[in-house]
Amino acid sequence: MTASPSSGSMSDFQRVPMARRGVMLVISSPSGAGKGTLSRLLLDTDRDITLSISVTTRDRRPSEVDGVHYTFIKPSHFHAMREGGELLEWAEVHGNLYATPRPPVEQALASGRDVLFDIDWQGAAQLREKMPTDVVSIFILPPTMAELKARLMRRAEDAADVIEKRLRNARTEIQQWPNFDYIVVNDDLQGAFADLQSILRAERKRRERIAAGTESFVAGLLDQPI
Ligand code: ADP
Ligand code: 5GP
Repeated sequence: MTASPSSGSMSDFQRVPMARRGVMLVISSPSGAGKGTLSRLLLDTDRDITLSISVTTRDRRPSEVDGVHYTFIKPSHFHAMREGGELLEWAEVHGNLYATPRPPVEQALASGRDVLFDIDWQGAAQLREKMPTDVVSIFILPPTMAELKARLMRRAEDAADVIEKRLRNARTEIQQWPNFDYIVVNDDLQGAFADLQSILRAERKRRERIAAGTESFVAGLLDQPI
């Protein structure tokens, strides 16, 4: 009879969990392409990743909860946070101010958790410049412009003039794709989500991210008799 993989020779040597640096997963897209939906799916199914909750000066949508989707603040508060160095990045998008507060991100990364950022291309560029080895960026494209418009209308959370403005800005935003590490076309939602999961899964195994953990793991391996 052969021994089961979990019995016998390994018993004196406990497997050491391998520590790794957290991934800063940045997801950007033109408004309505589906990054919010994809982000939610990931947050609901992957317990190792946590959302960076942005602050914004835009009005809350009916479906949004303050402190869950965004922290909604007044422009004066936003400016005070910016002057106080509390923001990791910030940008004006579609006429409103958005930013990533620094402390929660630093805490999450320090405790080995991955952090998800649903931010625009300007914010993505700032994070990439500040933390080039930690950031993994994904750009989500809609299958067609007609479908992008249809999704913004179906979402039915923005006024008609707001939707018009976002569609006009979509052309400039779409042209930012060459600055991202990965490009996913969100046609079939489940297919796009599977792509997202695969990217994160592979990035978690990148050598640079697990180098310190691998060093101690390998030292332990080499201590074991054959
Ligand atoms: P974003 O966060 O990029 O602005 P959302 O995630 O809010 O976009 O998606 C916009 C709308 O499109 C939502 O109503 C969402 O349910 C819908 N949607 C997202 N992905 C798909 C898809 N693959 N197929 C059809 N509808 C989608
Ligand atoms: P919405 O108003 O649809 O929630 O977001 C509008 C745009 O602002 C989206 O492209 C979204 O990704 C971006 N955004 C949301 N939070 C932030 C943030 O903290 N920083 C930056 N730079 N963009 C953000």
